[in-house]
Amino acid sequence: MDRTAVAKMGAVASASVCALVAGVVLAQYIFTMKKKTGRKTKIIEMMPEFQKKTVHIKDPEKVEEIICGLIKGGAAKLQIITDFDMTLSRFSYNGKRCPTCHNIIDNSKLITEECRKKFFSFQLLQLKETYYAIEIDPALTIEEKYPYMVEWYNKSHALLIEQGLQKDKFAEIVRESDVMLKEGYENFFDKLSEHNIPVFIFSAGIGDILEEVIHQAGVYHSNVKVVSNFMDFDEHGILKGFKGELIHVYNKHDGALKNTEYFKQLKDNSNIILLGDSQGDLSMADGVANVEHILKIGYLNDKVDELLEKYMDSYDIVLVKDESLEVANSILQKIL
Ligand code: C5P
Ligand code: MG
Repeated sequence: MDRTAVAKMGAVASASVCALVAGVVLAQYIFTMKKKTGRKTKIIEMMPEFQKKTVHIKDPEKVEEIICGLIKGGAAKLQIITDFDMTLSRFSYNGKRCPTCHNIIDNSKLITEECRKKFFSFQLLQLKETYYAIEIDPALTIEEKYPYMVEWYNKSHALLIEQGLQKDKFAEIVRESDVMLKEGYENFFDKLSEHNIPVFIFSAGIGDILEEVIHQAGVYHSNVKVVSNFMDFDEHGILKGFKGELIHVYNKHDGALKNTEYFKQLKDNSNIILLGDSQGDLSMADGVANVEHILKIGYLNDKVDELLEKYMDSYDIVLVKDESLEVANSILQKIL
């Protein structure tokens, strides 16, 4: 064999070895990457509740990391901060909208009959149509919506006061309403109560109605604290106003800071699961001094196409048109 032929063979051989080595290295790399990514989201990948089409997560690795932190901290470090309307309560059932705390009164037959002449209910529903559209308008910023929310609450609360609502009718009003808590609520509340995990329900609804709803559902356990708009009654039990400062959809940050005393008592509960349905709910944990891990779960019920990206940017887990507490329950199952 001449020199050129030997050189050629040598070149071919070394090229083959190179290709082989490169192939092995690439395979090794892909395998390690797969192993790595698999490992990074191992927990949520194994949870069937996370595989549903309704679950949207922008950064699964971050969610996995937070859940790991929550599991590690266990019951001792955990606390729940949750919104009420359309988060713990259902947005719809069998294609029909379910009421908010305010709507429970707006829709009540008792009220409608008594106040028919004044078109009370009609006025409230008109207000709802106008202002709810603003509340969820994807084109407006929170700052732009803020004054309209104040206007809505002031007008609707003034109408309620005008009607002289009776406190002793609330149990019946709630019983006859279409309000429903989300599927799995018994498991959610019972498990949290069993492990004595503090639950802070922070609602821009009506506290008296909210309490009646969870009381009738049998889940107003001693670990639950409700912060909301509570009514003020005269000595005959007739509504005369609202106590404290107004909590509306977009001022929960201020409300959270007013409750720093509550959160101070829970200074060791530095792991938080936050549940909400509005962009305003994201500030519900602003009063917590010591946050180690916080998992934000957001229900997106309306204007899904327009709002999904925004929700995915701000909530760790977004649940689209989900009428259950399954995802939260599956996480609690791992922690407790
Ligand atoms: O519990 P949460 O903070 O969600 O309660 C606020 C909800 O109450 C808002 O989503 C808003 O649509 C609703 N609302 C209402 N009627 C009013 C004021 C607020 O249905 N007059
Ligand atoms: Mg809500």
